[in-house]
Amino acid sequence: MTTSSNADWQARKNAAVARGQGNLAPVFIERAENAEMWDVEGKRYVDFGTGIAVCSTGHTNPKVTAAVQEQLQRFSHTCVMVTPYGSAVELAEKLNKLAPGTTPKKTIFVTTGAEAVENCVKIARAHTGRRGVIAFNGGFHGRTMLAMGLTGKITPYKNLFGPFPAEIYHAPFPVAYHGVSVEESLKALDLLFKVDIAPSDVAAIIVEPVQGEGGFYPAPDEFMQALRKLCDEHSIVLIADEIQTGFARTGKFFCSEYAGVEPDLLTVAKGIAGGFPLAAVTGKAEIMDAPLPGGLGGTYAGSPIACTAALAVLDVIAEENLVERASKIGDLFGTKLGELQRQYPDVIGDIRADRGAMIAMELVKSGDAEQPDADLTKAMVTLAYQRGLVLLSCGIRGNVIRFLPALTISDELINEGLDIIEGCFKELLT
Ligand code: PMP
Repeated sequence: MTTSSNADWQARKNAAVARGQGNLAPVFIERAENAEMWDVEGKRYVDFGTGIAVCSTGHTNPKVTAAVQEQLQRFSHTCVMVTPYGSAVELAEKLNKLAPGTTPKKTIFVTTGAEAVENCVKIARAHTGRRGVIAFNGGFHGRTMLAMGLTGKITPYKNLFGPFPAEIYHAPFPVAYHGVSVEESLKALDLLFKVDIAPSDVAAIIVEPVQGEGGFYPAPDEFMQALRKLCDEHSIVLIADEIQTGFARTGKFFCSEYAGVEPDLLTVAKGIAGGFPLAAVTGKAEIMDAPLPGGLGGTYAGSPIACTAALAVLDVIAEENLVERASKIGDLFGTKLGELQRQYPDVIGDIRADRGAMIAMELVKSGDAEQPDADLTKAMVTLAYQRGLVLLSCGIRGNVIRFLPALTISDELINEGLDIIEGCFKELLT
């Protein structure tokens, strides 16, 4: 059967794919180039989502595509755990150098972000011989059992799926806009150590330097520094989940650099390989070497196609100064969204644009942070794609619009997308 319209494909998808794997927009993509996409009906979209922070070097980046094509001619899989290849070693060496801090590092490759998170916990437990893991309210770490257990948001990620793995504890994440201070978060951790688990039983604390799915809330620098200190005091492994914040997205290569913190372990995925499935754990060599040979890995871990793509992505980031470009993108969005906020102060409660191209706008009622407007957020996302802009939402309250454009996007396309957003506000609010 040939299908040519989005509606036909959506009907076929609804019949063939379980609803749990939903899609944000009934838009079926035919081709994409840099920060633009075209659907099966030939309609064009500006892409402010990059497949959830993945295609940071743009869709079908010519250098990444050429590298992958060249690799495909030679071989596509041998299994890195059977007969490895140079690209995986070269990429590990590069990640070890790029990771924050001066302590010697080692890397392992896996395939998805959730796997990277799970492997961090395995490594931390093997290193410390301890059981407990502390994560934060609103954090997102993946959909597999252990990663889901660490995730701090119930719907849609956790309800219906219990029981959850044992020995996971959640603490409040500091969000000034919602009245949670760094001091309160640290106090809560102190209390946790008194009532739930002794610090000497805690293997790891996992934190996103900017909460992603939870609502794009940056961890204050002093919070990251306090976590580092706490982990040092109690020999707890500090895991920075940089799956969404990593790889030049936030205006530093890794977001932990803002606080000057060297995590013990670091997760990498999404933007690492320009759309090819690859994830990694990079961390202090002594900790990384705790598991026994064969204890870490996976059939597709560090696929040669994905490793080659990642090496090309790194070249593009360096050649096109994409770390700096991410900051400029943040400034451009921040200025324009600030103007919109002055126009709609009761609706745009908060703008977060100081972590490069990881930008957010929180929508509320009556200018009140505690009255989230999830309906307006949904309506904005829907109207935007109807008008040719792909937007993503997030947030534990469902009221945050997040912007994750390609770092290679032009100013013209940014302005075009932001104009669509302004038009959507006009239509929905008047
Ligand atoms: N951690 C963070 C911070 C993420 O943003 C995500 C994905 N949104 C994950 C883990 C899980 O990654 P994956 O979907 O590749 O398993």
